[in-house]
Amino acid sequence: MKKTNILFLFLLSSFMLTAQTKNQVIENMIKEANENSQLERLGHEMLDVIGPRLVGTPQMKNAHDWAVKKFQSWGISANNEKWGEWRGWERGITHIDMVYPRIQSLRGTQLAWNPSTSDKGVTAELVVLPTVANKAEFEKWLPSVKGKFVMVSMQQPTGRPDYNWEEFATKESFEKMKKERTELSRAWGQNMRNTGYNGRTIIKVLEDAGAVGIVQSRWSRGFGVNKIFSARTKKIPTVDLELEDYGLLYRLVEYGDKPQIKVVAKSKELGKVPTFNTIAEIKGTEKPDEYVILSAHFDSWDGATGATDNGTGSMVMMEAARILKKYYPNPKRTIIVGLWGSEEQGLNGSRAFVEDHPEIVKGVQALFNQDNGTGRVVRLSGQGFLHAYDYLGRWLAAVPRDITKHIETNFPGTPGGGGSDYASFVAAGAPGFSLSSLSWAYWNYTWHTNRDTYDKIVFDDVRNNVILTAILTYMASEDPEKTSRERVVLPVNSRTGKQREWPKPRSPRRLGGMN
Ligand SMILES: [Zn+2]
Repeated sequence: MKKTNILFLFLLSSFMLTAQTKNQVIENMIKEANENSQLERLGHEMLDVIGPRLVGTPQMKNAHDWAVKKFQSWGISANNEKWGEWRGWERGITHIDMVYPRIQSLRGTQLAWNPSTSDKGVTAELVVLPTVANKAEFEKWLPSVKGKFVMVSMQQPTGRPDYNWEEFATKESFEKMKKERTELSRAWGQNMRNTGYNGRTIIKVLEDAGAVGIVQSRWSRGFGVNKIFSARTKKIPTVDLELEDYGLLYRLVEYGDKPQIKVVAKSKELGKVPTFNTIAEIKGTEKPDEYVILSAHFDSWDGATGATDNGTGSMVMMEAARILKKYYPNPKRTIIVGLWGSEEQGLNGSRAFVEDHPEIVKGVQALFNQDNGTGRVVRLSGQGFLHAYDYLGRWLAAVPRDITKHIETNFPGTPGGGGSDYASFVAAGAPGFSLSSLSWAYWNYTWHTNRDTYDKIVFDDVRNNVILTAILTYMASEDPEKTSRERVVLPVNSRTGKQREWPKPRSPRRLGGMN
């Protein structure tokens, strides 16, 4: 049975390849993607040289300017379209050292939009949140934070990810650890509620009570990985420490060793700055008012360099556009590349584009978005468009079997309400699709973490996605028919008993981070 299958696949793929040699454009594009790939260079320039692309930072603007120049160097017209404004901020150095009871440099970083310390930094003792029965007890303890760093995260019972326990622990001790961890988390949550606050609101209370800094550790359940988001403090520094160092300090506090740390976390406030989408365009020759859109968010969080969220998606769209321009320079329909700003704060760039360009949204033939890591594409949903099977099926048939054999399709599927920028278009009724990729431990190891870096890129998978995107774009552009936008009737929500509704377009946040 297994042998027959392999033989059948082999024959099928040989047949498909033979059938495809008839299309020279597709053949040329595949050859270009494989033999003259620019992905490594794009990755290097975007991630190593420009770095993280947090909305409102000079690096985000550098990235947009770099992308425009890249497109232009390939003969593709491009510009940066302003859609809003954001709190301008530039990350400076972070140094965190334990200075008592011994010296040790600690691994951690300030959070995004952290208020700057002086050059001298802040040196102080640490305290942990107390166990309290009620708000009154917490309020009684609160004045003791004056002049101290406060550790606001639960101490994890293990720094080993579950897969490591699964491999080496006895079944009994693995179960015991998980039970303990669940119990610790429950108790931590209960204690937080007892204070009268939650993990977010307690920060302001601590700052107002005279704490000199906040120390957190937002573990991402893998070796050495933490999620890095934004600071909630107004004047005092907030830093995230890796699990190992956070645990060290926590134990020192609990055993009464009175540890002290020194935090230097510099940054610059840059006032209100404009935010952009980079829009590139290859004009259609026969149907210029119909569009195939290559879509990826260009921004990232800034705990690392945003290599897989969403450097790789951006690289796929840029490289596909380069190849299309080279071997399909006069497309039937207009090809647009949208590299969106501020997806991370709520799909802001793409929502702004949808709001600002109703004529383009009306003319969308198809949109392909990629934004969940470096892996090869393995899922494609029809997003609730009743006839997506017809046209996506037709287009996919032109893609080599080596690529499509990994893809599980779901037709007609249901419309995505969020998650990434295709949803902004789907909400407006335009056929937008998500090229959803294999995880490669995305959720724990790279997504919004301090480890989302160049070395995590799997270039063969990204190249696979470039070929897929370029061919789908070519086929969508060449299709004799305009795609249908007819929607499925959505099912009744079994929980509420109400009929599910198609997601509604939402306005972007045009001014962010200023309050
Ligand atoms: Zn993303």
